[in-house]
Amino acid sequence: MPLKAKTRSRSTRIAVTLISGLLPVLLGAAILYMQAGRALKQDAEQTAEEAIRQFDLMLDNNAQAARELLPLAGQSCGEVTLALREQVTRRPFVRSTNLVWDNNLYCSSLFGDYQEKVNPGDYTQGALWLLSGNPVTPNTAVLVYRLSEGNKGALSTLDGYHLINTLRLIGGNTLLVLQVGPDWISADGKVHTGTAPDLPVAQSHLTSGRYAFAVEAGFPKGETWRYIRSEYPPLLSLLIFFGVIAGAIGHVLQKRSSAPTQEMQRALEASEFIPYFQPVVHGDSKSWSGAEVLMRWQHPKEGLVRPDLFIPFAEHSGLIVPMTRSLMRQTAALLAPQSASFNKPFHIGINITASHCQDLELVKDCREFLDAFEPGSIHLVLELTERELIEPTAITLQLFEQLRELGVKIAIDDFGTGHSSLGYLRQFNVDFLKIDQSFVAMIGVDTLSSHILDSIIELAVKLDLALVAEGVETREQSDYLSVHQVNFLQGYLFGKPMPGAEFISALSDH
Ligand code: C2E
Ligand code: CA
Ligand code: CA
Repeated sequence: MPLKAKTRSRSTRIAVTLISGLLPVLLGAAILYMQAGRALKQDAEQTAEEAIRQFDLMLDNNAQAARELLPLAGQSCGEVTLALREQVTRRPFVRSTNLVWDNNLYCSSLFGDYQEKVNPGDYTQGALWLLSGNPVTPNTAVLVYRLSEGNKGALSTLDGYHLINTLRLIGGNTLLVLQVGPDWISADGKVHTGTAPDLPVAQSHLTSGRYAFAVEAGFPKGETWRYIRSEYPPLLSLLIFFGVIAGAIGHVLQKRSSAPTQEMQRALEASEFIPYFQPVVHGDSKSWSGAEVLMRWQHPKEGLVRPDLFIPFAEHSGLIVPMTRSLMRQTAALLAPQSASFNKPFHIGINITASHCQDLELVKDCREFLDAFEPGSIHLVLELTERELIEPTAITLQLFEQLRELGVKIAIDDFGTGHSSLGYLRQFNVDFLKIDQSFVAMIGVDTLSSHILDSIIELAVKLDLALVAEGVETREQSDYLSVHQVNFLQGYLFGKPMPGAEFISALSDH
């Protein structure tokens, strides 16, 4: 089969194959990416919630210590040192306790009597202050809890060790940051001032409902892909599998659809589509009244190819229009020099597809064809199959009007197999009906079909249309059609489709 031949543009084919393979993979990967993003976001939120819970719990101990000590503020340090130390000893997470009078720290669990100014403005919401260290442990962060009432004040400190430990342990893969007012601390234990930097992936921000701090949780850059690789390996393999299958299907499909088109394009350029001519005779005298031009493909390897094997591909790809144009030019070149010997007017039938009638190009093709012949020597007949009728639009009606002005005739091919209406026949100014060969074949065989044949003949007479019967193979069929006044006959009985040279030499005999 000629249309199985190899195609040329490999790069386009490879590109389309790659696209059809990559598309499902990319789409699937995008869905997995979104899914992974959602899972990470949920993970970050849960981690942030857990961190808030832990920090609240630690601060509860400091708050409790401060609450118990606050009433003692104002008493002399000697009297209260024991109480201060007792809180440190009894309560977890409390590293030191201090009493304040009139914004002056005057007593500490560590040093007893002490003097230091307290600035309430240092404390977020007057209650929490994150420091990078204090005089005792200058390199360890400290979180100070402050409680005050009038002149009285109590401070309770939380060791940064616990904060860092919590940030590290709860965090795991997650990056965690504790923000207290303008200061923040991350798992590396360093206290910074300013807003914590954005976390690259799935950042989640949560504020404690009870104390003046917030937590940021998120993941480092590239975490989404790392997550996909570790959590969805079966889905990833399935995606790649689908990609390969889709690529293969794309490859096969385009090979199937583009190969015939490219092969026909090559054949067109190599002038392998040639006209064959089948005589059409007068119904009464049986003298040659013209010919139908039938396309053949002179394939270099496959030999002569029948039109029904390649015309459908040509119609599908749109190549039928240039192919018909080439056929008309070859026909004109072969027959125009014979104009003098024609039985005038000589009918030349050309098969036209509906797609050729979508613009006015056909008028140009017909004018070029007619101009090649001696004026008045031929009738150009365009054969339009009834199975594929042309839509009556403004442009097609204009086209047929212009064709009529040129003197071009219209024949409805395969008449009886489609569904043209009387209105249609009038609208397009049809001149000939070509009775489909299936009805001719039934003459003397099937009474029902010959009834249909009789009504087609009757209809043509009523509409004043000329009739051509196709596929006349026997004398009986020929006689029947002649008796019934069918104007023209075509079939193997009078001549098979033949190459140009053979047709021209036979023409002189008739
Ligand atoms: P069609 O237009 O109905 O052409 C008549 C077909 O009947 C031709 O087949 C012809 O060889 C065949 N035929 C003629 N007399 C007899 C007969 O006595 N007995 C039998 N059994 N068959 C007969 P062909 O040449 O194979 O063409 C087949 C179809 O291909 C055509 O049917 C037409 O629809 C299409 N075709 C041919 N050439 C062209 C073309 O240039 N353009 C377009 N669009 N279609 C074409
Ligand atoms: Ca035809
Ligand atoms: Ca036909």
